[in-house]
Amino acid sequence: MNIIDELKEAFKILPGVGNRTAQRFTFYAIKADKESIERLSRLLNEVKEKIHPCKICGNPTTEELCSICSDSDRDHSTVLIVENIEDLYQIETAGKYRGVYHILGGHLAPLENITPEKLRIKELIERVESSKIDEVILALNPNTAGEVTSIYLYDLLKKYKNIKITKPSIGLPYGSTIHYLDNYTIIQGINERKEIKGY
Ligand SMILES: [Zn+2]
Repeated sequence: MNIIDELKEAFKILPGVGNRTAQRFTFYAIKADKESIERLSRLLNEVKEKIHPCKICGNPTTEELCSICSDSDRDHSTVLIVENIEDLYQIETAGKYRGVYHILGGHLAPLENITPEKLRIKELIERVESSKIDEVILALNPNTAGEVTSIYLYDLLKKYKNIKITKPSIGLPYGSTIHYLDNYTIIQGINERKEIKGY
C-alpha cells in the first residue's frame, strides 16, 4: 500500500468517515500548508500522551482532577451518572446543572461481554462510600441497554439509605440517546427529575 492509500485507510478509523470523506481528508492533507498539518499531528499525539481519566469522575483531563471535580462552586453531593463523555459534554453545554458527574464508560451488554467489571461501577461504589453524597441521578440513555444498566445500579445503590436515587424526566421517545437531545429538553429533564422508588 502506498502512503496515500495508507493515509486514506487511517482516516477511516474516525467515526462517520467512509471512503469518500477519507479521500477528501487525504487530498486536503496533501494540499494543506505544513503548519496546519504539524499542529494537527502534534495535538493528536498530545491528546494521547497527556489526557487521562479524572481520578474521581472519569472525565478526560490533563490534571489529576477535571475542571468540574475541582470546582468548589459546584454541588459535590449530587452525582449525575452518564454512560459516556459525549453525554457529559452535552449536559455541560446545556448549562444549568451544578452538580458533579460519574462516567460509567458505557452500558451493560452481557451478550457483547460488557459486564459490570468493564464499567466504572466499582469506582462509583467506592465514591459513594467515601464521600458525602446525597443524591445520585441515573441519566443513562433512554433505551433498553440504558434501562438495564439503571436497574442494576439502582439495586446496588438502594442499600445506601441516605442517598436519594433519581432519574431525569426526559420527554423523549424510548430508544434515543442523550447526545441527540436539545438543551431545553436536557435542562427540563434534569430539573424535573423524579425519585426512583423501585423497579
Ligand atoms: Zn472529574
